[in-house]
Amino acid sequence: MAPGTLPPLRVAVIADIHANLAALEACLDSVDEAGVDEVWCLGDVVGYGPDPNACAELVRERCSLCLAGNHDLAVLGELEVEAFSESAAAAVTWTKDVIGEAALEFLGGLEPAGQRDGVDLCHASPRDPIWEYVLTREQAGECLDVQSERICLIGHSHVALFFTRADGERGNVRGAQAADGSLIDVSAGRWLVNPGSVGQPRDGDPRAAWLALDADAGTALFQRVPYEIEKTAEAITAAGLPKPLADRLFLGQ
Ligand code: ZN
Repeated sequence: MAPGTLPPLRVAVIADIHANLAALEACLDSVDEAGVDEVWCLGDVVGYGPDPNACAELVRERCSLCLAGNHDLAVLGELEVEAFSESAAAAVTWTKDVIGEAALEFLGGLEPAGQRDGVDLCHASPRDPIWEYVLTREQAGECLDVQSERICLIGHSHVALFFTRADGERGNVRGAQAADGSLIDVSAGRWLVNPGSVGQPRDGDPRAAWLALDADAGTALFQRVPYEIEKTAEAITAAGLPKPLADRLFLGQ
């Protein structure tokens, strides 16, 4: 942040777009309707889905901050595909074939972790920004110990959720999955918050996810947006990507 500028009051947080353009567009329409000052993306712009170039372009245009996810790094050749599941690895290989220079250049400038205005941002977790899936209270407690800021935004698991505990406490972590419309008061205590996934939700709700973080009110609101899943599913099949990657979108798994 340049000296003298004020932190944005309302931020839309998105993550795990996974080259799903229909989902990203629906999400950004909803973000525009809500009216925010900035959009932050927690990484995995590409991988799994059929529209890596258009998604990278739109994220570059619309997001004032973007992290690199494990899929982005794999497409850049910075991670081995052996670490990925079979269908994820197939999608990385496919994406490497179709991705253009502009998208590669954009992704190549991103880091898996960062900080903005008193908020930690990590693609996966504060102790392992590339790979750790934070899904249990035990893990969350250890992450809350190591994060440098009071609030840490994470993606990667594709599950909209939060974990929290009071300032200065050790154990006693509370946490839950967060359904559409869940509002949390983040004005005090330590927090780990995952907005859920735009392009491949895995929490049983197939709608695209985003989080409205309001610095002024001290709140975060979880939001879900319907989009044309058929459109993305058909494009996945037409591209020759593994069919299970299309099927799972309808289930949100
Ligand atoms: Zn992801």
